[in-house]
Amino acid sequence: MGEQSAGRRKKAADDSGRARGASERTGRNTAPKAGARRTAAPVKKPGDAAPAKKAGGAASAKKPGKPETHLAMVRRARRINRELAEIYPYAHPELDFRNPFELLVATVLSAQTTDLRVNQTTPALFAAYPTPEDMAAAVPEELEAIIRPTGFFRAKARSLIGLSASLRDDFGGEVPGRLDALVTLPGVGRKTANVVLGNAFGVPGITVDTHFGRLVRRWKWTVQEDPVKVEADVAAIFPKSEWTMLSHRVVFHGRRICHARRPACGACPIAPLCPAYGEGETDPEKAGKLLKYELGGYPGQRLSPPPDYPGRPAPPLGTA
Ligand code: SF4
Repeated sequence: MGEQSAGRRKKAADDSGRARGASERTGRNTAPKAGARRTAAPVKKPGDAAPAKKAGGAASAKKPGKPETHLAMVRRARRINRELAEIYPYAHPELDFRNPFELLVATVLSAQTTDLRVNQTTPALFAAYPTPEDMAAAVPEELEAIIRPTGFFRAKARSLIGLSASLRDDFGGEVPGRLDALVTLPGVGRKTANVVLGNAFGVPGITVDTHFGRLVRRWKWTVQEDPVKVEADVAAIFPKSEWTMLSHRVVFHGRRICHARRPACGACPIAPLCPAYGEGETDPEKAGKLLKYELGGYPGQRLSPPPDYPGRPAPPLGTA
């Protein structure tokens, strides 16, 4: 009994110390109020402290030595999605576009480069070739010169001229709003088609890019490497209505906090739900310095971000 009381006092002191450390670091009072009931894992914001020890899928994931059940994984996955929705209420596609054709072209250009570089390139491209008819009739060398900053510009120019000709000849100059039609266009795979469907047509789609695949494997939502299998596994966890926004939230998290080489675990609000906590920097101060874009005080990737985006717009090409 005495030992139990001492144990409880020590735990309370540890909790209080952790909360004090978090509020000092974040400038916010994160300590639980007296008499308040502890919840499993309070919703946190970027920069809030991560748990002191490796989470191992802490709050609602598996117990050590006991494999997590599928049902527990689904619950944990849905909770991660809810928390990401609170952290990134402004999540959105990070390519600038004004219509489905522009989104299609920008997505094709985004292969092997950053959305920022694409966004800095497309204003001149769409000024020169605003419609599929214009782009289909482009002189290849002139189009290549404009898209050169995005890399692989000869292959991308061939795809853009080819897909524009197909839109003109087979689809009445309009981008089709169907997966089976989109994937017939030169240079358009399932990932590109899902981006276009989800963001230009409101058709739910899961976009498995490098960030999405990495994070969902870290979170043990899937063990698959093949993007089509990853998409199928994740689709089985969430209702269709969540697919598009889930994709944006996961990619936002991957670009800002859960980086490929050095994830900022010590500043990650979903650390208590993450089996991979500890793969990256766990020191809160050092982790805070790894945050990118609006979370780190830097410009975003879009030159024309949505009005609710809390960060700064990206600079035009050649100015930064
Ligand atoms: S940064 Fe990534 S690996 Fe680290 S705790 Fe967060 S989600 Fe998990």
